[in-house]
Amino acid sequence: MNIKSILTNYVTFEEKALINRFFKHEDILPLINQLPTEFKVEELGISVNGKSINAIKWGNGKTRIMLWSQMHGDEATGTMALVDLLNFLKLDSEPVKLISKNCKLLIIPMVNPDGAAAFTRRNAQQIDINRDFIQTATPEGKILKQARNDFEPSFGFNLHDQTTLWSVDGTLKPATLSYLAPAFDKALSINEVRENAMLIIADMFKELDQLLPNHIGLFDDEYEPRAFGDNFQKAGTSTILIEAGGYQNDSEKQQIRKYFFASILSGLTSIASKSYEKQSTDNYFAIPQNNKQIFHLMINNLLLNDIKVSIGINYDECPNTDGMSTYKSYSVQDIGDLSFCDAYQVYDARDCKLNGDIFFNKAADFNLSKEGQIILAFNNGHLLT
Ligand SMILES: [Zn+2]
Repeated sequence: MNIKSILTNYVTFEEKALINRFFKHEDILPLINQLPTEFKVEELGISVNGKSINAIKWGNGKTRIMLWSQMHGDEATGTMALVDLLNFLKLDSEPVKLISKNCKLLIIPMVNPDGAAAFTRRNAQQIDINRDFIQTATPEGKILKQARNDFEPSFGFNLHDQTTLWSVDGTLKPATLSYLAPAFDKALSINEVRENAMLIIADMFKELDQLLPNHIGLFDDEYEPRAFGDNFQKAGTSTILIEAGGYQNDSEKQQIRKYFFASILSGLTSIASKSYEKQSTDNYFAIPQNNKQIFHLMINNLLLNDIKVSIGINYDECPNTDGMSTYKSYSVQDIGDLSFCDAYQVYDARDCKLNGDIFFNKAADFNLSKEGQIILAFNNGHLLT
């Protein structure tokens, strides 16, 4: 399969109804209900606020694969990629035939519709569903757990978004995608189930690294006993975590969505063709780790108290009350020698005048001007220019 040529036709299967991260349950529902009859839609249950959580079954093969997205309501990229995947599966192509012949998919887009409505991570009970595996106090967590128990998938794709502040070790580039075969114990042991997830990821990385060089990292693999991925791995489903991070000039993740789709498709074809059986875990461990060496914004060569320093500034993104947009609150996160770092936006403060004060760990509240022109301005954490 040539993933590059598939992406050149992306416009033919990209879901046009989804244009940013703020779509809701009512936007997804008609897309699911309009699917052709070879897609079997089933309501698995309802969220705290009574919204349906649906699964779509597709494919005629034996190998069962479950894919689920948006357990965290403000992590929308996986859902966009799954809807694009549904559109792709409607088309006649060699990879579609291969997957259909060998696999049966269970796709659960938007596990947390109430979180999506408010654009928050947590559900309407204010619980993080992905820390609820053991207690299972959330209806959404219960539904997801039950879906795995009933379907008994050999493989799982757990789809999330990560902070845009992760970078790829050795590159100073944003970790646009991160992959992980989650651990099933504290010792980070490797059994056949986890090893298969690693091998599939090695296959995915091989293909995606050509499209997104230096932008793919390995997510932190600390064991989290309350998380679903870790527990599904333990239960015998080879689970692959995909995280969408940041990409230059792509705050609504419309570029990342494409690479996210390509990652899933690459993983599915690896399973369908069994090409992962020829992979080596060495290639998984050779994927660079994620680290945090980028800022949202960096100012170099600033004279602060007569010392030349760099300033690293990051924002927190908070939803507005309608859940249809966010506001960004900027704070100073580092001061000093940041020569080993990079940022989405870099300013050079040479010959600039600083108006206001800069305090570590406080809201950005200053401006920089050059020859009387303001080049960067913050007012109590809000970016003005
Ligand atoms: Zn998440």
